[in-house]
Amino acid sequence: MSTIAENISTLAERIRSAAQAVQRDPASVGLLAVSKTKPASDLREAYEAGLRDFGENYLQEALGKQAELSDLPLIWHFIGPIQSNKTRAIAEHFAWVHSVDRLKIAQRLSEQRPPELPPLNICIQVNVSGEASKSGCSPEDLPALAQAISALPNLKLRGLMAIPEPTDDRDEQNASFAAVSTLQAQLGLPLDTLSMGMSHDLEAAIAQGATWVRIGTALFGARNYGQP
Ligand SMILES: *Cc1c(COP(=O)(O)O)cnc(C)c1O
Repeated sequence: MSTIAENISTLAERIRSAAQAVQRDPASVGLLAVSKTKPASDLREAYEAGLRDFGENYLQEALGKQAELSDLPLIWHFIGPIQSNKTRAIAEHFAWVHSVDRLKIAQRLSEQRPPELPPLNICIQVNVSGEASKSGCSPEDLPALAQAISALPNLKLRGLMAIPEPTDDRDEQNASFAAVSTLQAQLGLPLDTLSMGMSHDLEAAIAQGATWVRIGTALFGARNYGQP
């Protein structure tokens, strides 16, 4: 077995045991392969080992890999910060966007979503770590943003995404992810997605209701930004 295939089976086991610990169906937790800085050949290996959903942070890098892998039925998720001059390409080339944190971006994505494609699946990125994080909508602004996005025609608001400040303390991890889950419930909207949990904290995220865990390092190994 390749290293990537081995990593996938280790992750499947981590997800299974984290879900069972809280009486959740492991199939309710999706594994989103975060492939930033990794070559298309790594994604192909992950596909061959069973993965379909891939998350990318940088538009140009993602478009290059999409072209190289156009023979595969992959589902592409945009998970990085979004500048307004990138919305058209994102609306055209992705099935999901996890990192929407302001209305202007959502409006552009809706306007620019090609009519022949299904609605773009959206998660609102929420900041539950206060000043420690610069991206994400504040909990105070979330209800109005969620209402406004729900009304946009070519988007489908699915839920929330969060990247809490990293910590090894399981109680702190639980508290951050529980806060996301509570914010989602308080919206009173028909949402089915919580995108939260990364390589080091997926267990806590699953315990608090994650439906996508976004995994890079534990799947593809450490990232080398010097040689993308
Ligand atoms: C890089 C990244 C991840 C993956 O993080 P790992 O710790 O490598 O698993 C997840 N989500 C987002 C938004 C990222 O940018």
